[in-house]
Parts: sequence; structure tokens; C-alpha cells
Amino acid sequence: MSLSLQEQICSRKTFAIISHPDAGKTTLTEKLLLFGGAIHLAGNVKARKTQRYATSDWMELERQRGISITSSAMQFNYKGYVINILDTPGHQDFSEDTYRTLTAADSAVMLIDSAKGVEMQTIKLFEVCKKRGIPIFTFINKMDREGKSPIDLMDEVEKVLGIESYAMNWPIGGGADFKGIYDRQTGNVERFSAELRKGNDDVRQSGHIDETETQEWIGDELLNRLNDEIELLDMAGNTFDKARIDKGEVTPVFFGSALNNFGVPNFLDSFLTLAPPPAPRLSNQGVLEPTHPEFVGFVFKIQANMNAMHRDRIAFIRVCSGKYERGMNVIHNRTHRKMRLAQPQQLFAQERTILDEAFAGDIIGVHDSGILRIGDVLAEKDGIEFEAMPFFSPENFARISIANALKRKQFIKGIQELQEEGAIHVYRDLNIGVEAPIVGVVGQLQFEVLEYRLRDEYGVEVQINSLPYEIVQWIPKDEEKIRILRDSSLSMVVLDQDENYAVLLLDKWKANWLSERYDIVFHPQPLKDE
Ligand code: GDP
Repeated sequence: MSLSLQEQICSRKTFAIISHPDAGKTTLTEKLLLFGGAIHLAGNVKARKTQRYATSDWMELERQRGISITSSAMQFNYKGYVINILDTPGHQDFSEDTYRTLTAADSAVMLIDSAKGVEMQTIKLFEVCKKRGIPIFTFINKMDREGKSPIDLMDEVEKVLGIESYAMNWPIGGGADFKGIYDRQTGNVERFSAELRKGNDDVRQSGHIDETETQEWIGDELLNRLNDEIELLDMAGNTFDKARIDKGEVTPVFFGSALNNFGVPNFLDSFLTLAPPPAPRLSNQGVLEPTHPEFVGFVFKIQANMNAMHRDRIAFIRVCSGKYERGMNVIHNRTHRKMRLAQPQQLFAQERTILDEAFAGDIIGVHDSGILRIGDVLAEKDGIEFEAMPFFSPENFARISIANALKRKQFIKGIQELQEEGAIHVYRDLNIGVEAPIVGVVGQLQFEVLEYRLRDEYGVEVQINSLPYEIVQWIPKDEEKIRILRDSSLSMVVLDQDENYAVLLLDKWKANWLSERYDIVFHPQPLKDE
């Protein structure tokens, strides 16, 4: 029997995992996928046998560097739920991509390394989730290693991030003495042992805190400490409040060890009960409910040359309402043209399966011949628009040139496509033009990726010459001011991708000085209709 639209939507959970690099996001993602049987479901187990990298890290460079660069989406079914995990790069140089991906998530899982606590990148990503008001669930990882005390970690989450925390479970000991996890709702204790560390899964055991056997396993000292800490939490800690969790005001906290798949099943079960189904979205036509019968989706990511075997460009669309059906016609809001969503893909790492239907909360990937842009809306009816995507100003600039003039065409194509993906910002030097564009990126590592991808995907060797500028601002088309800025050694006037006048500046102080000295108003974003 097929499920109703309402039932389909309620069964969906779409979330992103946010963390500082090395906290264990790849490990946790893999455990969740394995746990949900996704690797088996997606077939092709044989091909994956030899792969030691995580299923979500599919770009060659990601494998070489051991970091996750691009965000991909993975779907699996578990206990009647359809779970969509949005993978986000943890490295700060790719935060722009991550921020856009977060616009497609209904909740976030914040992963924290128990030894490191709340780190820089976690703070930044947390801020974006907080701004969106989505529920945030915390998983404190690596409890099998020596780390900070759980009370200190909870305190750090509250003080550094400014969100109240509620411990759903509590670790018994930690590091070498790690004995397990106590569930505050049920009083159950899941035991951890050195055997689990060695990968022996048969030793998993649980019991109740009131049972003598469980208490003996824990030992007097740790049991006393557990009792004291739970008493402290019950008396002085926050109360469990689902409404406040939904608003992102309180984060439920779980402890565990992703590597040992310990605490992960309990976490997943609680998370699925507490995390929200696909949320309504604010549009220019009012609130769009996920149960709205017509299909509406928006592009949050574009990725060219997803892998060497396919060499194509995929636009990732978050379905916001209605039902997607294979081959359906939609209207593209920016061009008002009809488009057929012929072969949408559901992406599972290197594999692609053709999708027959999708509902609010799902992510579909469609082939794009260069029409779609990030933020575009595809819907059965024309005219719907959502809030603009977050804009991040580049902070690193370089002039890119090619060694071999015969590769000019491929070079221009590569730069154009990577710009359309939102991977780089491209500017044109007024004196030189497209031959040697100026590229702006948020983080330096993006230049390495640019160089690599131009070579790997377009066969072009480039030279990247750093420029000393740190800021880009936009200016009106005022010839006198443009002349002053062109003549100044403190600035460089360029045209952005939409032919708006922009100016690259050395730093904030010099920008202020220029602004005051010559009465020039700098704008942090492109000027509309200039
Ligand atoms: P990411 O950069 O956040 O994706 O982190 P990874 O998943 O690649 O993990 C970073 C390192 O931490 C790897 O060496 C993992 O094996 C290790 N790691 C992840 N989870 C745990 C854990 O629960 N315990 C221990 N001891 N190590 C872990």
C-alpha cells in the first residue's frame, strides 16, 4: 500500500552533520549508513570492499588530502524513516559550500571531540544553524579516549555557543576507564569493553542501573561518581523541553564513540524521534508547507564533473513540497522556462540510482547543461522565490593564467563552470579581461582545489599568482571615483561576473582611509540595477 503525501513527509528526516575537522564526522556518517543498511541497500558491495575511504568522500583530491571537500547527499531507510544526510566539508576553507548546504537541512548534528571540546569551525557552523533556528543535536565523540570531563564539556557548549544543553545519556568513566553509557530516560546502561575497541561486536551488552550485575560491572568508585553527576544534572541542569529543542534553544547531548559504533544506535533512535520532519519554508508567496500538493524545490549546490566516469554537471535540489515524479515538467523561476526533470539522480557516493519519486525533505540531483544556478527555484508553478542564499565575501585573491595558450578555450570553460558551481568568484581586470581572470576565494585551500580540478577535469595547467588584497567591495559606476581607485596603489578596480564594478582592497583600514579621503561609499554586496 502506498503512503499518503502526509505520511511520506512525516517519515523524512533531513540533516547535516557539522563539526571541526577530525572530530569524526566521516566515521559517524559511515556508521550511520552501515547501521541503516545503506551500503547493502545501495548494492555494489563488491566495488566498495577495497575502498578504505569513506563513502561520502568521492573526489580524488579528497582521498589524497583525507578531507571532505564537497558536500554530497546520502539517503537510507531505517525503521520506517527515510533519512537524508547532507555531508558537509569540515575544512574552513570550504565553509561557503557548507553554509549553502545547511539551507537544505531541517536539523543538524553537532559532533564534538571529547578531548578538544568546542572548536573554531564548530562555532562558525553552529552560528549558521542557530541563525536558521533549526534544532541542533550534539554527539560528544571519542569517549574511549582521554578527554575533558563531561560536566566541563556541557559547560563549554553552553558558554561558548550560548545554547542550553540537556544530557540525554551520560558517560560512565572515560578514556581507559570508559565503562559505558547511562540512559537518563530508561536507566539502561550500555556496556563498553576493550573487546569492542578491538572490533569484536559480539561482546555488546546492556543492563539496568538497578541490577547488581550492572553495578558490579561499573564498580563502586565510578558508580558513586555517576550517581553524584546524575543528581547534579537532575537538580541543577536544564529540563527536557521538546518545544525548546524544536526552536534550537536547547541541544540534546549524547555521548559515545563513533569509531566503536558505541552509543550510535541509541543516538540514532532518539534523534529520529526528536528531529523534526521537513519544515515549512518562507517564500515570497507566504509560508510554503511541505504538504502543499505542488512540487517546489530549490538548488543549493551545483557540482561539475562529479566523477571521471560521468563528466557531467549535477544540480542538487532540495524538495520543499509536493511530489517529484520522474520525467515531470517544472518551471525554472529565473528564466520562466519549462524544464523536464528527466533523469534525476539519487546520489550514493560513486553510485547513482535513478529516482522515480521524491518528497519534501529529499535531495535530488539533476543533470544541468549550465542553466541552473544556486538559489534557483524549480516548481510546477512559476513565481515562487525563497530568501537569498547566504553570501560570503572572498578574502583571498589571485590572478590565474595559463601556460599553454592553445588551452584557452578549456581554461575559460573551466573557470566559467567552477564559478557557476559557486566554488570561486571571478573578476575581470579592466585592463586585461578574461585571459587572466582574478579569482577570489574564502580559503586558500580552494586555490589548490581550483588548480587541481582545472588540470584533472579540463586538462589545463595554470599559474596562480596571489594578489595582496583581502577585501572586495562594490561601487557605483561613477567615473571620477573609479579613476581615483584605479590610480591608487591601495586598490584595484574590477568587474564582477555580472559586470558590476567592484574594488579589491588591501585591508579594512586602507579601505576606510580611501572611503573617507575621497568620499567613496563601499558596498559589501553587488549593487542591484546599477
Ligand atoms: P572528520 O575529519 O571529522 O571526518 O573525522 P574522521 O571521521 O576522519 O576521524 C578522524 C580520526 O578520528 C580518525 O583517525 C578516526 O579513526 C578517529 N576517530 C573517530 N571517531 C573516533 C572514536 O570514537 N574514538 C577514537 N579513538 N577515534 C575516533
